[in-house]
Amino acid sequence: MSGGPEQTIRVVDLYPEVMNVYADRGNVIALRARCRALGIGCEATAVGLGDPLPAEADLVLIGGGQDREQRRIAGELASRAGLLREWADGDTPMLAVCGGFQLFGRFYRTAEGDELIGTAVFDAVTVAPARGAARCIGDVLAQSGVEGVGEVVGFENHAGRTYLGPGAEAFARVLHGHGNNGDDRTEGALYREAIGTYLHGSLLPKNMALTDRLILGALRHRYGDGGPLPAIDDIYAERAHRTAATVARERGRSYPR
Ligand code: GLN
Repeated sequence: MSGGPEQTIRVVDLYPEVMNVYADRGNVIALRARCRALGIGCEATAVGLGDPLPAEADLVLIGGGQDREQRRIAGELASRAGLLREWADGDTPMLAVCGGFQLFGRFYRTAEGDELIGTAVFDAVTVAPARGAARCIGDVLAQSGVEGVGEVVGFENHAGRTYLGPGAEAFARVLHGHGNNGDDRTEGALYREAIGTYLHGSLLPKNMALTDRLILGALRHRYGDGGPLPAIDDIYAERAHRTAATVARERGRSYPR
């Protein structure tokens, strides 16, 4: 069994003061709470603009942001691409949400045609249509192929359309909602233990299986192979998940057959 008072995971939270649209900072709050419930230590380091990256990380988070917020961090984030890709290659779990996800791809091209270079952790590119084109907005229900994660729920609001290259697989398949681009039913991206997704909400408080997957990945990254986490129910998370799934089924966009 993994976890225990002597085990601590080191979480690096990238630009939380800037990249926090739709309460994405709820992800680090959910991680801390879940670690407490599991009896695992959680050291979270917020990395702001101009701050150095810690030497090591067991889990990396970055939230979403509007184009102007993305412009503020893109240059500095891209200057750290080498280390972030090294961490990803070394199976450091990552969760990059929406605008953060776009900047963890190869580039995000805005509606004005500005190309923000990404870290290329994911083999993915994102292009926003001309201003005024419909955004991808709404409640999402998707099925992830990541072991133990299953159904995921969240809320999306993005202009950018993301397309995966041969080096990336989708994090999930959209059942209700738009997902990466509203065309190919893909949602997010996967590279080793790194996850990109468009799901805000925030995501982790309503998706406990994903939260546990990230925590287990972080424990394994730091301490080597570990068994399953103790099975601890969270009735509030389960209720929030069920409610969000119902709303997505009732209101989420349905893919044309
Ligand atoms: N600015 C990006 C877009 O509009 C990401 C938005 C977000 O993070 N919610 O696609």
